[in-house]
Amino acid sequence: MTDTHTTKTPLTLLGLGAMGTALARTWLAAGHPLTVWNRTAAKAAALAPEGALVAAEAAGAVAGNDLIVLCLLDDKSVEATLDGVDLTGKDLVNLTTGTPAEGRARAAWAEARGARFVDAGIMGTPSMIGAPETGGYVFYSGSRALFDTHRVTLEVPAGARFVGEDPGHAALHDVALLSAMYGLFAGISHAYALIEGEDIAPASLSPLLSEWLGAMGFFVGNAAERLTSRDFTSGVESNLAMQVAASATLLTTAAEQGVSAELITPYLDLMRERLAADPAAHAGEDTTGALTLLRRGAA
Ligand code: NDP
Repeated sequence: MTDTHTTKTPLTLLGLGAMGTALARTWLAAGHPLTVWNRTAAKAAALAPEGALVAAEAAGAVAGNDLIVLCLLDDKSVEATLDGVDLTGKDLVNLTTGTPAEGRARAAWAEARGARFVDAGIMGTPSMIGAPETGGYVFYSGSRALFDTHRVTLEVPAGARFVGEDPGHAALHDVALLSAMYGLFAGISHAYALIEGEDIAPASLSPLLSEWLGAMGFFVGNAAERLTSRDFTSGVESNLAMQVAASATLLTTAAEQGVSAELITPYLDLMRERLAADPAAHAGEDTTGALTLLRRGAA
């Protein structure tokens, strides 16, 4: 019999919700010796037949291995789980979703307890774990040394992207991408609301919408270049003055269709605000300049 365990890094996983359980299964299937703990013990016991070593207490699970992965609900549950647990010499990988500030505070907290730390943000759902073809991956930031030591193990459930030694940056990347996603969802929702009640099937708008959003994807790179150069006017084909004028058509059409424009007005208002601030200076810009109005100062 081949013992696949001999070459694979042993690790501990705390938290066996939907995501934690998916992670556990990929490490077990890949032959990693895995110690698990979950607040509700039944979820941990369910993994014993698959080879997991089940710990009765979080402290015991942590004591069992050097590499400790956390996949709990939120930062408060990390605090509750690890309060008083000896973390000396441990490598903590926090897959729990949190804010950049929580990531930084948790890193300082871990360091004060003698542990190395990386924070992470999972870009995927449980069904994308252990399924590389789905494109799911995880952002990591914090201790580069920890990441380099455990990269191979961390890449078992999903691709790993290290985004720097600031422990807040994994969460910031995660939140930036998710925030963009909701903006996209808002626009898509508004488009479908406009055709509701008309003789246009959602299924017939769907491919047109996908194709159009794909074509408009150029804005991502274009905005990045303009934010770097601070040049908002060179090569502009659709200037702000024109876009502000045209936005009246969007709002009037929404009213005619009996649809609230609440999902699209914030961005249109921002364009108007930018133009109104200095029409002569901003009329020829694209819409990237408008985002400079968003910064309010940190909380
Ligand atoms: P679940 O709600 O399925 O599981 C939550 C886990 O946290 C359970 O193990 C739960 O234990 C534990 N928990 C909650 N509160 C406490 C507490 N006070 N003390 C100890 N343990 C606690 O969530 P997921 O597994 O889906 O998500 C886990 C993390 O992964 C979250 O941070 C989430 O944002 C992130 N994530 C999830 C994604 C998803 O699609 N599911 C996608 C990307 C990130 P118990 O079983 O006892 O309730």
